[in-house]
Amino acid sequence: MTPLPPNAVIGILGGGQLGRMSALAAARLGYRCHVFAPEPDSPGMQVAAARTVADYLDEAALVRFAATVDVVTFEFENVPARTLEVLEPLAPCRPGIKALGICQDRIVEKRFLEAAGVPVAPWRQVASLEELQAAVAALGLPAVLKTTRLGYDGRGQAVLRQPGDLEPAWQRLAPRPLILEGFVPFAAEVSAIAARGADGAVAVYDIAENRHHRHILDLSFAPARVPEAVAAAARTHVTRVAEALELVGVAALELFLLPDGRLIGNEIAPRPHNSGHWTMDACAASQFDQHIRAVAGLPLAPAERCHDAVMRNLVGPEGMARWPALTGMADVVPHLYGKAEAREGRKMGHATRLLPLGALGGMTDGTAIGGL
Ligand code: AMP
Repeated sequence: MTPLPPNAVIGILGGGQLGRMSALAAARLGYRCHVFAPEPDSPGMQVAAARTVADYLDEAALVRFAATVDVVTFEFENVPARTLEVLEPLAPCRPGIKALGICQDRIVEKRFLEAAGVPVAPWRQVASLEELQAAVAALGLPAVLKTTRLGYDGRGQAVLRQPGDLEPAWQRLAPRPLILEGFVPFAAEVSAIAARGADGAVAVYDIAENRHHRHILDLSFAPARVPEAVAAAARTHVTRVAEALELVGVAALELFLLPDGRLIGNEIAPRPHNSGHWTMDACAASQFDQHIRAVAGLPLAPAERCHDAVMRNLVGPEGMARWPALTGMADVVPHLYGKAEAREGRKMGHATRLLPLGALGGMTDGTAIGGL
């Protein structure tokens, strides 16, 4: 495709921080963004050239939105499929409905990962308590029961440790059917992020090692401190995923690393990912730059890393309490998302500590994190 000319308009569905950082990257490349989201004054809208506050299923608003944009992208994968069905005949959507549909449903996603050659945990679809009992008999305990749709940051899932856990978890989780996954005794959680351009070129970042706190990403270390063969396998997996999705944009693949070095795919996000925020400050072209380049039909930039990095999320009031100190640290780049209220569990911003290339490998976690 011909690249979008300067001042073209990129429509972004979703008003969160991922849309905000994408819009900021778009502005640097001379594009304008029109953010469409149901929430007024969202982080994305604050930095956009145009905004529509409407429901994702408001078809009249979608038609008006499509008339003002040259291309449409989304910043979170829970945009209803119907929204893209309405938009696709009116404006190019990148990524398209195929990638969105695969990543919205854990069962479709598992089958897709298996077909793409990415190993996954053993799993069963469960549509009744009897099926759950049969699935537990097959996979054993512990196991993880999850909703297939609309789960994020650990919401919509339960770890089953003993037979008595089955019924309460089954009653609590909705919508059904659910998916039961074998528990993966992982040594580490890592993520791989790839951009794929409209021309099919792929750029893959170094993989990150991720730590969670109360089910929310807390820290990412880049590069992950894993053997090169493991890192290379993760990069291969995410490349296959981007290609099989026919992605135009950025996708992240979350993986579990087993103690023996094997990788197990967990889930795909067909958009820039929290575990890639370090690329904003440690690379010449961030995941958001690449996303905009792909969506606009520009060539991708190299995904090369110029620093080692540690990223910490600033979550809720606790995270905001760190802000004043972070703004005074010479080796730290702080980011805030413009959210008015620091509610518990809400991602308010993040900060990235930059280290010399190669420094992370020899550091303990505590030294690497420093004052972050
Ligand atoms: P998810 O919503 O699938 O990303 O899961 C959230 C978190 O729950 C992951 O980051 C893991 O820490 C944990 N988790 C999810 N699935 C499994 C599993 N099959 N085995 C062990 N831990 C899991």
